[in-house]
Amino acid sequence: LIELDGVNKWYHDLHVLRDIDLTVGRGEVVVVIGPSGSGKSTLCRTINRLETVQSGTIKLDGRPLPEEGRALARLRADVGMVFQSFNLFAHKTVLENVSLAPVKVRRRRKEDAERRALALLDRVGLAPQAPKYPAQLSGGQQQRVAIARALAMDPKALLFDEPTSALDPEMINEVLEVMRQLARDGMTMVVVTHEMGFARASANRVVFMAEGRIVEDRTPEEFFTNPRSDRAKDFLSKIL
Ligand code: ATP
Ligand code: MG
Repeated sequence: LIELDGVNKWYHDLHVLRDIDLTVGRGEVVVVIGPSGSGKSTLCRTINRLETVQSGTIKLDGRPLPEEGRALARLRADVGMVFQSFNLFAHKTVLENVSLAPVKVRRRRKEDAERRALALLDRVGLAPQAPKYPAQLSGGQQQRVAIARALAMDPKALLFDEPTSALDPEMINEVLEVMRQLARDGMTMVVVTHEMGFARASANRVVFMAEGRIVEDRTPEEFFTNPRSDRAKDFLSKIL
């Protein structure tokens, strides 16, 4: 579904993605881990074209990513992104946060979009919060709204960039539970996270990055029991 082939990216003279080859099949869950500054966020952002790359190709469904205009807006809907800092619209209700983009980008009728939004909020356990504003919700609830908002676009894939890193410990699990359920339901997911429990339980593959390169790309069992590279061994010894 998602294919990166020989992707390189520089910020000025900083080479942040180096010869990235990565394929994510339909229904696959790929967890991306690695030290700070290794390029994990940049990798996510290139997949829905929040960032451009200088060389290589990125394809979704066999087609190169669109450059601009409505096609680009559709791409962002097809490849939803959930950030560390929820990024909800503060002056819109929870229901509006989830239902506005489908009307604008997917051209849904408002009533249909709102009905669907309520169903999605119910799925993440937040139907009663629909009329509230984001500031009235806990961090874990806001992040679940952000996930419902991404799902409202009927995405082909979802990208998560450290979705639980800004949360208090007691809220992490409620967000991970929603993500585990999505994984079980067959959603294609690329997840940057330090939650190794999620990686072990829900990932089909773990991609370990260091200094802009993919150093390992293996199953969680292989990666956690027998990391090949010294970099991965060193990283795991620090976080496990
Ligand atoms: P972290 O675990 O801290 O989130 P990361 O693996 O997500 O790190 P990136 O955010 O992708 O790393 O950053 C990769 C490199 O690119 C870093 O050296 C970072 O400083 C640099 N970088 C990121 N964004 C920009 C930018 N907009 N302009 C210039 N350099 C950037
Ligand atoms: Mg990052």
